[in-house]
Amino acid sequence: MSLDIKVTKTTEPRERPQDESKLGFGRIFTDHMFLMDHNEKEGWHNLRIVPFGYLPIHPASTVLHYGVEIFEGMKAYRNVKGEIVMFRPDENGKRMNNSAERLCLPEIDSQMWMEILDTLVKMEKDWVPYSEGSSLYIRPFEFGNDENLGVHAVHNTTFAVILSPSGAYYAEGINPVKIAIESRDVRAVRGGTGYAKCGGNYAASLRAGKVAAEHGYTQVLWLDGVERKYIEEVGAMNVMFKINGEIITPALTGSVLPGITRKSCIELLRDMGYKVTERLISVDEVIEAAKNGTLEEFWGTGTAAVVSPVGWLSYQGEEYTIGDGRIGEVTQKLYDTLTGIQWGHIEDTKNWIHKVC
Ligand SMILES: *Cc1c(COP(=O)(O)O)cnc(C)c1O
Repeated sequence: MSLDIKVTKTTEPRERPQDESKLGFGRIFTDHMFLMDHNEKEGWHNLRIVPFGYLPIHPASTVLHYGVEIFEGMKAYRNVKGEIVMFRPDENGKRMNNSAERLCLPEIDSQMWMEILDTLVKMEKDWVPYSEGSSLYIRPFEFGNDENLGVHAVHNTTFAVILSPSGAYYAEGINPVKIAIESRDVRAVRGGTGYAKCGGNYAASLRAGKVAAEHGYTQVLWLDGVERKYIEEVGAMNVMFKINGEIITPALTGSVLPGITRKSCIELLRDMGYKVTERLISVDEVIEAAKNGTLEEFWGTGTAAVVSPVGWLSYQGEEYTIGDGRIGEVTQKLYDTLTGIQWGHIEDTKNWIHKVC
């Protein structure tokens, strides 16, 4: 298949950042972006790559009033062989379609998804940073764009992809983070949109994040929305606990986002011979394990950090140190293996790496 994408090149290419240590995350964008529109009659149409810039939006646009928006987050890397690659981009495409189904937005065919990403990333390949750990962050997103205030499934949708060269997540080495268990707000409930990657989930999470930050915690650990009893996940990461030698991660009950890093970590850990269990795990069980010393390791998994060790956990005014507050053995091994596959230090036997060019 070859898509008909109309390309309009910028006449004012921007200076690429020289100092990659100062990239940060999501602040700088490349010269071009991808856009297309959808309605029932025409399907996806007007596929175009245009100079990066503002989008004209009608003041009554659905997304501005009712938050009908879904997105994905992925990376393109420059690996040790000098190739530009992506990690399991087909999985992001499937998840985008699951999110679309939940919000009554149109789905994107898997071949079309891959061709859009390949075309745009290839065109912007000079923007993929060179230093190890840095990457080109890819943000595909889709939103309801009807120009009226009626509340109903949308008829007009816009899909876009923007690219942002971003710095290494662990510029100063892998430092364990401090996490606060949230007992007031909840992020999602079963039957809601927790499993969909939609903007509204983040909107609901900001207040708890702000309070946690004021107390010196970088992230919030969410509990289930019904009983506030079971562990769900952290802001933009799934979580895994090592208790008494066994690795436990919350089951995907509908309110937890099915992370691609989570899925990949489970597979790698099982390959390494660890017992990994997906089940409900209560906050009481975790706190008890933290108190009696059987909570050996605790980490988060997500595209941004890949694997992020948690050193400290707070719950109801008490703070618990995990292990000795330093990165644990399994956490380190998992980080090294997964980033090794992504950067090409370790052979990709699972066909997870997609070569762009
Ligand atoms: C994106 C996201 C994750 C991580 O998913 P990955 O596919 O591993 O990047 C976890 N939780 C939430 C809420 C997310 O939005």
